[in-house]
Amino acid sequence: MVTDVKELIEARSEPQRCEAALLSKVLVKSYGCQMNVYDATRMTDLLSREGYAETKIEEDADLVILNTCHIREKAAEKIYSELGKLAIAKRALNAQGRDMKIVVAGCVAQAEGEEVLKRQRAVDIVVGPQSYHRLPELLRQARDGARLADTDFAVEDKFRTLPAPNRAQIRARGVSAFVTVQEGCDKFCSFCVVPYTRGAEASRPVAEIIAETMRLVDAGVREITLIGQNVNAYLGPDGDGREASLAQLLDRLARIEGLARLRYTTSHPVDMAQELIDAHGANPKLMPYVHLPVQSGSDRILKAMNRKHGADAYLSIVERLRKARSDIALSSDFIVGFPGESDADFEATMALARAVGFASSFSFKYSPRPGTPAADRDDQIDETVKSERLAALQVLLDEQRQAYNAATVGREFDVLFEKAGRHEGQIGGKSPYMQAVHVEGQMELIGREARVKIIAAGSNSLGGRLMSEEAKA
Ligand code: SAM
Ligand code: SF4
Repeated sequence: MVTDVKELIEARSEPQRCEAALLSKVLVKSYGCQMNVYDATRMTDLLSREGYAETKIEEDADLVILNTCHIREKAAEKIYSELGKLAIAKRALNAQGRDMKIVVAGCVAQAEGEEVLKRQRAVDIVVGPQSYHRLPELLRQARDGARLADTDFAVEDKFRTLPAPNRAQIRARGVSAFVTVQEGCDKFCSFCVVPYTRGAEASRPVAEIIAETMRLVDAGVREITLIGQNVNAYLGPDGDGREASLAQLLDRLARIEGLARLRYTTSHPVDMAQELIDAHGANPKLMPYVHLPVQSGSDRILKAMNRKHGADAYLSIVERLRKARSDIALSSDFIVGFPGESDADFEATMALARAVGFASSFSFKYSPRPGTPAADRDDQIDETVKSERLAALQVLLDEQRQAYNAATVGREFDVLFEKAGRHEGQIGGKSPYMQAVHVEGQMELIGREARVKIIAAGSNSLGGRLMSEEAKA
């Protein structure tokens, strides 16, 4: 096994192999979580080596990949309606003597496998999140007329097979990048499909992550978000026969010169080690923002969800995070209308949200997923009740987000500028607390951090004034 960082970078620095001229075009549409966004970029890079240029225009595409999400029923159903439209487009192209291969990747592919091929004849390939590195071979077979489903949990390490992006590809994607460090889930929350679609928890080796990060930073990336289904369960081989925790990995990455900011998501409360909490006070590159899904504030529902912690344990983590870093911003995921959820259980969720005061949050109606224990319960909650509870929770969470944004007016902090703003002369970036910030400023600041004073707050973004035209060194 290659564990030395230099060796890894060199191993990945070979010139990109290109078997065909850049004649074919691929459109990758990604749905759902950040893991899918990351996988989509890796698929694009893999296919670029095979001679596919990226396109955003469906009519131009010779290959369309839907990188799907199975987390809620609506997300999965959306894929079939999208496939219906693609089937019509494919028939129209066929009538003109052209072809369009259609691939279904991601969690719907993993969960439904060959069913997708049966349900939609226009689909050529179904490929799961653990086998998409085999796409070139699958495409070769599809070009010979085969229709295939590969949803193996491959024995070979997909990350070792996938080619690294080149500098131009990295630069085109901006100054903030995701790096997958952990995949899969062993938690088996009773509502969730992830352990079935993404497999068991596995962590990438430290050296591999450092090499990937160095390559990104070398091409101009300034902010790295480490991602994983349960990123704080990270425990990766460090090359010395030991295993590094997420806090230790963050410490190693913080030493990379040129890297300004580190983030991680998504965390599970039971894996929120004190060492990681302390890192928020000790690691200056680690941003003061944590996404920590709680799902419910009721101990009874948390138990039924198999979350393995109660409301008090969650509040204790929040208290310790604020002790480590008093300005830390917190965000969360909530599910309302889990089977058996009473008015009192829902009120406990509202109380927990009031007690914490979140900077931002995502909230969903419980969606029964086939094959998960909660879907079989006979105390499902009426859709109207779910909608009422979701509306009430979202009013509270919106108020909290607006109050949080309003409280930043008058403060000064560094903003990492990422892109041109909506108006001429404006540039946009991110605060340490994950808020969008716009200022009047020069395009040269993009890719750099500069000090900003916040002068206005909206519900989704902040307006600021540059304290100096100079970027931070
Ligand atoms: N691993 C993370 C955790 O434990 O919090 C979450 C990952 S999951 C992909 C993202 C979010 O989707 C969850 O936090 C949960 O709120 C939501 N979710 C998952 N299954 C759901 C379901 N069956 N119905 C509604 N929301 C669901
Ligand atoms: Fe799903 Fe629970 Fe695993 Fe998160 S921890 S991915 S919610 S099973």
